[in-house]
Amino acid sequence: MSEPATGAAGQAELQAFRRAGHALVDGVADQLAALPSGPVWQPLPDALREQLLELPLPEGGGTVDDLVATVLRDVLPHAMGNGHPAFFGWVNPPPSLAGVVASLAAAAMNPSVVAGDHADVHLERAVVRWLAELVGFPHAPGAGLLTSGASAATIVCLAGARGRALAAVGHDVRRAGLAGAPQLVAYVPAEAHSCVRRALELLGLGSGALRDVPLEAGRLDAVALRASIAEDRASGALPALLVGSAGTVNAGVIDPLEELADVATAEGLWYHVDGAYGAFGVLDPAISARFRGMVRADSLVLDPHKWLGVPIDAGCALVQRGDDLRDAFSLIPPYLRQNAGEPVGTFAEYGFEQTRPFRALKTWATIAVRGRAGIAAQVARANALARELALLIEGEAELELAAEPETSIVAFRARPKGCPSARLDDVNRALPEAVQARGRAFVTGTVFGGRETLRACILHPDTGSEHLATLVAEVVETARTLAAKVR
Ligand SMILES: *Cc1c(COP(=O)(O)O)cnc(C)c1O
Repeated sequence: MSEPATGAAGQAELQAFRRAGHALVDGVADQLAALPSGPVWQPLPDALREQLLELPLPEGGGTVDDLVATVLRDVLPHAMGNGHPAFFGWVNPPPSLAGVVASLAAAAMNPSVVAGDHADVHLERAVVRWLAELVGFPHAPGAGLLTSGASAATIVCLAGARGRALAAVGHDVRRAGLAGAPQLVAYVPAEAHSCVRRALELLGLGSGALRDVPLEAGRLDAVALRASIAEDRASGALPALLVGSAGTVNAGVIDPLEELADVATAEGLWYHVDGAYGAFGVLDPAISARFRGMVRADSLVLDPHKWLGVPIDAGCALVQRGDDLRDAFSLIPPYLRQNAGEPVGTFAEYGFEQTRPFRALKTWATIAVRGRAGIAAQVARANALARELALLIEGEAELELAAEPETSIVAFRARPKGCPSARLDDVNRALPEAVQARGRAFVTGTVFGGRETLRACILHPDTGSEHLATLVAEVVETARTLAAKVR
């Protein structure tokens, strides 16, 4: 589609777009309508997998109509499974249809969302503010931006943390790098998402400079943490960062955010909260008190492409002080910034992307069609379903809860009758894939508390009690089969 849409050729191309677009929308709607009655997921037929992998680079072009036919036949039916209400894997919701529609418009506009007086730039500013308002985080213009996801948002935030900590001891990390800088230390709970560690490694802290945070059954041993910080200071290192999770990926656990904030304040550390999955949980009145302290974070990351169901990709970094990010990323010298058209500067001054996609439109659309109340209801409903699933698990002799659910993630294990306890880890390790292969429910696994564990994450607005029952029945039956094999 390289020809410009002008002249006779362009007009014909536009007509083809109209026709193919309508056919695609109809095909997608048919597929979505049929989805809940089919298997959650199935492996691709061998021939099709091969065909896709070996697709030859075409020498000549084809028509959009053919393209749509191919997509509807060979691509659309072979999805990951997260469109199905019995999908409980990882942290992957179905897309909001408003977001899907908006994606078409965003692609058709195709702006690079950096700066300037075009709708996309203003919409991103508004949507970032909306996200902050949704979770009750303070927001000033410029103090946040959309990213590809929480992993990227975490790198953005922690670059701000690194710069601020080193600037405080007179070290300009952007000019000097880390050479000659004191060793920065980050205090990161064991259950924090791996993207935190990856960001710190990328930023040159070295994973050797990560310290565990003494959290036991959701309680912080602040005395032990402060002793560990004092020890690092005494050895000449520079304690810089404290991390908390507003919903861990393994079990949806909300860390004691207020207690962590107290330590960060007392010790002068940058406080970073990972709310990628769980920050929207604050909208559920049943658990909102657990999020107290989140507003005190220096930086908070959220993933609209998780609980909100914004079509991937949509992550968000929020900070108290936009200048912390601008200082870390802007290549425009401060003395020139005043002259820029926008007082808060361009998005490229606050992160590491230059050409940026129009993520705001699908995010705006998703929030706009539900409203704050609709989102809050969906979040509360998912949490209630998680508690319901926990009760089902507790009522099933061959299952056990690994943790009481706080949000919409339920961590649990199978203990099939007659299975030697030494083989339980083997059974639970093999369980997720075996359940997935049966096609009636989709669940994934992790290691939690040192043991192989299943985790069911409830994000689909159409998931209901019947799907919870299917999941429990599928796990119990599959576990029995696996146990019979290992015995
Ligand atoms: C998904 C997730 C991440 C990583 O986010 P991406 O969007 O996948 O980059 C980080 N933390 C938590 C708690 C998550 O659930």
